[in-house]
Amino acid sequence: MNILRAHPAQSELLTLRQAIVETGRIAYERGHLTANDGNISTRLPGERILITPAGLCKGRLAPEDLLIVDMNGRLLIPAADPSLRPTSEQPMHLEVYRQRPDVHAVLHAHPAFATALTVANKPLRNDVLPEVIMLLGDIPITDYATPSSQENADVIRELIRTHDALVLRQHGSLTVGRTLDEALITLDRLEHVAKVLALAEMMGQVTPWPLKI
Ligand SMILES: [Zn+2]
Repeated sequence: MNILRAHPAQSELLTLRQAIVETGRIAYERGHLTANDGNISTRLPGERILITPAGLCKGRLAPEDLLIVDMNGRLLIPAADPSLRPTSEQPMHLEVYRQRPDVHAVLHAHPAFATALTVANKPLRNDVLPEVIMLLGDIPITDYATPSSQENADVIRELIRTHDALVLRQHGSLTVGRTLDEALITLDRLEHVAKVLALAEMMGQVTPWPLKI
């Protein structure tokens, strides 16, 4: 489809489809989405959500692989391949949109260092790098929930009301934003901080940054 000749509404939808594809490609290449892990969604007008399918690698999606569901998870528009189903983490995505009218994009990933900290039962400290407290604030770690279950929607419900980044215990991350780019940048920053913390722990000492306020 030629984006310049498309109907305006279709053009906007195609742009969002392409933005999800691009977000998946970048997150996959950055190592935040291993194998066919992770899922991405964005709001559409009319209480609808554009969301990634289950089972496909998010680094190699095509715009027509995405599906449109309503806020109850009912499939409104299937993918070009009718056998594709929405991600099994759809309940978690829908819960974010219910709790946060300001959020237009949701990104669930499996970043290695952020996840490893929870496996080692260590907090994501916010007193080590100034960018954490300035740009991310407090990053809570949820209770453990079985991946791909309704439990994930339950454990994020309270925390996502007041945070744009969560670490899902022994599972992965959940970052949200007004745009897909914001959700991706927050994921990148979260994983960078977790990596620095993990490396510092391995080197033997984590030094808090000197607070000068
Ligand atoms: Zn997951």
